[in-house]
Amino acid sequence: MSHETVYAIASGKGGVGKTTTTVNLGTALADAGARVAIVDADLGMANLAGFVSLSPDSTTLHDVLAGDASIEDATYRLADDIVAVPSGTSLDEYAETSPEGLREAVEDLRSRFDYVLLDVGAGISHETVLPLGLADAVVLVSTPEPAAVHDTKKTVELTDRSGGEVAGLVLTRTRPDGDVSHEELADRLEVPLLGTIPEDPAARDSVYAGTPLVVYEPDGPAAVAYRRLAADLTGLEVPVPTDDDPETADADADDGTSAVSESDTAADAATDETEEREAAHDDVSSAITEAESDP
Ligand code: ADP
Ligand code: MG
Repeated sequence: MSHETVYAIASGKGGVGKTTTTVNLGTALADAGARVAIVDADLGMANLAGFVSLSPDSTTLHDVLAGDASIEDATYRLADDIVAVPSGTSLDEYAETSPEGLREAVEDLRSRFDYVLLDVGAGISHETVLPLGLADAVVLVSTPEPAAVHDTKKTVELTDRSGGEVAGLVLTRTRPDGDVSHEELADRLEVPLLGTIPEDPAARDSVYAGTPLVVYEPDGPAAVAYRRLAADLTGLEVPVPTDDDPETADADADDGTSAVSESDTAADAATDETEEREAAHDDVSSAITEAESDP
């Protein structure tokens, strides 16, 4: 099995599915029994917290990078085997951070988790480039649009310059009628194609629900694709969660133990976190607006 621990989830263009990929890859790996930390390293446009109903008005990675808190203080348990490190959303907080502290924070997480996924900001700024070199491997995320793939070339170059390693490309929001082959798009970047995630309306609905897609609609096409990506990337066996409705339970769910713990988690979330979700709703809405206004 491959032994990369720290993955940077990166893209040239914004709004292509990095946060969706970070949250769902992380959740799928946790379902497979790995201990996972997902980190909002998108310091300028932080929105990971909204995807998982985490209330971001407590200690965040910004406080850690400003030297005001330890990484443990900014680590929040989401479910069995998975924690999140959110970033703050205010510009003032952003102004006080120094990305340099990220190295130490990542090394601390590396020693405590099997997988650390860094949700990296789009573009080519210093805070974007730094995580590319800190990670053991960079997962490039792009939609299949030629312009988005073209921008990904810069991320590949920046990864090389910062001494990082590209694991390969994940194409998101793919459609069956796309006219360029997915393999060909990966070939243009000279990187392996790690997987494709189909366009699925459940992706957006799951953000409104503040629940990872792989939990929100585990049998949907994007959730299935994220589980496959998690398995292909790490070699772990990722169980298909069963749910309460036998009609939709997947026939190849072979790991009863993990599946049971996942339904428990979902049940807990439904009862305990309703208030938190409501509180987080504004953040989620602004996260969505932000993503959509970033062409
Ligand atoms: P990024 O972190 O790269 O800015 P996001 O993960 O926030 O991108 O995704 C941007 C938008 O695209 C969000 O509204 C999200 O719900 C939507 N999205 C992501 N993946 C899919 C998908 N497979 N199908 C449909 N919509 C998707
Ligand atoms: Mg994002």
